Amino acid sequence: MKQKKFILQENEIPTQWYNILADMPNKPMPPIHPATHQPLTWEDLAHIFPAECCKQELDMEHRWIDIPEEVLEKYKYYRSTPLVRAYALEEAIGTPAHIYFKNESVNPLGSHKINSALPQCYYAKQEGTTNVTTETGAGQWGAALSYAASVFGLEAAVYQVKITMQQKPYRSSIMRTFGAAVTGSPSMSTRAGKDIITRDPRHPGSLGTAISEAVELATTTPNCKYTLGSVLNHVALHQSIIGLEAEKQMQMAGEYPDTVIACFGGGSNFGGVAFPFMRHNILDGRKTEFIAAEPESCPKLTRGEFHYDFGDEAGYTPLLPMYTLGHDFKPANIHAGGLRYHGAGMIVSQLLKDGYMRGVDIPQLETFEAGLLFARTEGIIPAPESSHAIAATIREAKKCIETGEEKVILFNLSGHGLIDMPSYEQYINGDLMNYSLTEDDIKKSMKSVPEM
Ligand SMILES: *Cc1c(COP(=O)(O)O)cnc(C)c1O
Repeated sequence: MKQKKFILQENEIPTQWYNILADMPNKPMPPIHPATHQPLTWEDLAHIFPAECCKQELDMEHRWIDIPEEVLEKYKYYRSTPLVRAYALEEAIGTPAHIYFKNESVNPLGSHKINSALPQCYYAKQEGTTNVTTETGAGQWGAALSYAASVFGLEAAVYQVKITMQQKPYRSSIMRTFGAAVTGSPSMSTRAGKDIITRDPRHPGSLGTAISEAVELATTTPNCKYTLGSVLNHVALHQSIIGLEAEKQMQMAGEYPDTVIACFGGGSNFGGVAFPFMRHNILDGRKTEFIAAEPESCPKLTRGEFHYDFGDEAGYTPLLPMYTLGHDFKPANIHAGGLRYHGAGMIVSQLLKDGYMRGVDIPQLETFEAGLLFARTEGIIPAPESSHAIAATIREAKKCIETGEEKVILFNLSGHGLIDMPSYEQYINGDLMNYSLTEDDIKKSMKSVPEM
């Protein structure tokens, strides 16, 4: 029997997160206040987000940040997550490469998002907040936040994009099961929602409308804070638990990755698995390669531009320095809903600019083909988002067939796809397609990037 699974003992689980901001040779440029055009201050952020998250967001100094005891206790419900050597997948590809995956689907909610939902709710509770609010597209973040809110005794209000609420009904059922109030956005419950509906009664909703409503609720309700599940620095910080565990587990396996791969929406699971290894490239001259796998239909890393842009469609958020396709970019309705975001986080954007990583864009059909192969070899049905990482891994592993290289490849399995079965059904029936973009499409959406 081949040994294939590595799990850490309870006393070996990391007790600190890793903050790559402290080690980056070039720090990200500051986020800019949209009205004053001045760098954003801690106070600007603290109106909206829990104070501790704001501190973490701007912390360029501390490399290691203690995980609060109460959060560690909750992490232990499902951590460590397994690191698995994918022998069956290797065999099916016929590659000499050694493929490992970190399985972040093994937790109550089925994706990595819980790793940041727990600390965000904990910090909110600590500072006397009673309510948290957020937006969710496909629903994974809303589900993780609803669970974390119930764990720490907070009320959660989630604005879910109206159209995905209908497309993925089980995700709202999950949120309601954990006690959250779920509202389809745009709704009549906020000023912003009313304005949108008045203008367009049949508006299907977007992350932009949902963000506007959630932020409005947070700013107009006492003791209510807003939370975000990707893009921001503090979210990537919380996700570093993935890579820190993986580093120890790779040691148990007696190997070190030549290549680290993750799918890419705003960058939190990529940063989570990659940054702890990247620190050895920055500090110790290691030569590990880092690949972020994005959809062909939303290619901000491979075809976007580095620019100050808004984080939301409506243009309410601060201006962030990032690779972007333009904040009013309307991605095709692909099944990897968690990857349909126009921009990349500030840290990842700077690292890409400085050549520490690269992006690769993958057509939808190739991701489902990869997802099916993974399911049939490793027995886990991956989230359509995660299948982008699997497809990128298969591409790299195939290169090794030609070169004969026994490359060590580590990818992050960000979630399972058990509530995405209608997507698989459509793929198997031959009803899915690819969506590629012309240069003109991209030029058009880049027009929404503000002049600075
Ligand atoms: C949200 C989500 C993603 C994309 O978000 P990142 O912040 O880029 O990690 C990827 N996979 C799954 C399963 C998700 O839920």
